[in-house]
Amino acid sequence: MAQSNIEWTEMTWNPTTGCDKISAGCKFCYAEVMSRRLKAMGVEKYKDNFKITKHENELGIPYTWKSSKIVFVNSMSDLFHKKIPIEFIQKVFRVMNENPQHVFQVLTKRADLLLAYDKAKMFKWTHNIWMGVSVEDERVKARIDFLRKTKAKTKFLSLEPLIGPLPKINLKKMDWVILGGESGRNPRPMNPEWVLDIQEQCEEAGVAFFFKQWGGTNKKKTGRELKGRTWNEMPVFPEEFEKR
Ligand code: SF4
Repeated sequence: MAQSNIEWTEMTWNPTTGCDKISAGCKFCYAEVMSRRLKAMGVEKYKDNFKITKHENELGIPYTWKSSKIVFVNSMSDLFHKKIPIEFIQKVFRVMNENPQHVFQVLTKRADLLLAYDKAKMFKWTHNIWMGVSVEDERVKARIDFLRKTKAKTKFLSLEPLIGPLPKINLKKMDWVILGGESGRNPRPMNPEWVLDIQEQCEEAGVAFFFKQWGGTNKKKTGRELKGRTWNEMPVFPEEFEKR
């Protein structure tokens, strides 16, 4: 468990680590860079670098938090990677089911496998599990349709890093959209027109909109204002979540 600087969450919990690149959005994968760095620092959990690894000993952590938390699950991995056994994914779901006081944000690029497991009734979807898919451009828009067909109670899209336009997104059954541009040394540009278009699509569809950042080589400078304001909308929190 670690505090997080990510604007749309509070902390991260990584019961698995490691992944493989699957689409253009993975090009400058932050988790891969961080894993390498943590391995070099001698952190035991990352001794296998970016290889898929289960961490059974981390499953008990959410039970120890004293107050309600907003938790990004697997910021250093993808829970629906085919090398992660379904039995282990089910254990992660059980932990989330048994801790309704916390909100768990699960984000994947493997939406096809997510739907296959869901169709096979492998999970219990409690209100505190917010299920999302990452979509960086039109080529991977199908992930949204896979997510829509699941029984997840709260569904969201992470359009980050946005590297192409996404006109006419089908936002039916979506509760939340997070949008952000790429940052780092060599970021791919994000056209402001794509951002404005998506914000307007969300407004029209009544979907909560969170604008994370413009990105670029100096993300502090470019900031996160759009139309002269910040956009920090979130989905409806479950009753058990203690608001602060
Ligand atoms: S799916 Fe996510 S964690 Fe995996 S390589 Fe791509 S960006 Fe990295």
